Amino acid sequence: MEHVRDLTLLPKAHLHLHFTGSMRPSTLLELADKYGVRLPDALTAGEPPKLRATDERGWFRFQRLYDAARSCLREPDDIRRLVREAAEEDVRDGSGWLEIQVDPTSYAPLLGGMIPAVEIILDAVDAASRETGLGMRVLIAANRMKHPLDARTLARLAVRYADRGIVGFGLSNDERRGMARDFDRAFAIAREGGLLAAPHGGELTGPASVRDCLDDLHAARIGHGVRAAEDPRLLKRLADRQITCEVCPASNVALGVYERPEDVPLRTLFEAGVPMALGADDPLLFGSRLAAQYEIARRHHAFTDAELAELARQSVRGSAAPDEVKAKLLDGIDHWLNG
Ligand SMILES: [Zn+2]
Repeated sequence: MEHVRDLTLLPKAHLHLHFTGSMRPSTLLELADKYGVRLPDALTAGEPPKLRATDERGWFRFQRLYDAARSCLREPDDIRRLVREAAEEDVRDGSGWLEIQVDPTSYAPLLGGMIPAVEIILDAVDAASRETGLGMRVLIAANRMKHPLDARTLARLAVRYADRGIVGFGLSNDERRGMARDFDRAFAIAREGGLLAAPHGGELTGPASVRDCLDDLHAARIGHGVRAAEDPRLLKRLADRQITCEVCPASNVALGVYERPEDVPLRTLFEAGVPMALGADDPLLFGSRLAAQYEIARRHHAFTDAELAELARQSVRGSAAPDEVKAKLLDGIDHWLNG
């Protein structure tokens, strides 16, 4: 019998992880206790909540849980702890590069404003990176439920801190609200400032939302993008241009985008030549971290070790890591497969 290679030892890059959503459940309980926050039962049950984000009520419920968790992050120390633990968890799962995304707007009121919030977050990322040895960068994500002018402000802020570890600009929250093109100016500011455009698309809505990300926001990567699988021409376009889709299988199942892990169209994207970077999205709410996403590919989609290695390479190539970091990770992947 061929021995089973350990997926936590496969070097990979993690390109889709939200800030609060990266928190350890035990940390959330401790922080809630520290601040006397009464958490919704769904966050204290010890297992991931059942969510149906494919309808608006389900998405609202998901956002409420997320907001409750975020309300437990109040002091710079909490931010530093969150980031350090996210890095530790990533290292444990074989990540060699982490891009974490955050909308600083939500943390600004408690941290003394937008600029202090961004600086606290970037300092925390620096410190965590030094302590754990994990390469880390930040994507600033605008919220599509808010006004496009807010997104422009965020884009300018992100560009201003580009040399302090911000590598990309995203757009998150309910794809059914607003149009991608409402945010085209914000994305133009980000791109002109040298940031990678990585909006969410093709999760709650179909292929059209992925096309909007490409046409209107000139996305270099797509957050999720899985539903491009419904449109062969779009798949070809993503493959031709090597646009990486940050696919988060456990999240898709938890939010009801697909019924079962085997329904997530990993094979369709892979066979079409669309590069993927598997990601955990919000492990706090979905109950699984980075290596578990590769386990899903192995267990439910029969990805061979050579194919899993190729998925890991795709995640590295799609990252904003410096060339020498990429080369080292790609070497490690070969070693995992052949060593
Ligand atoms: Zn996401």
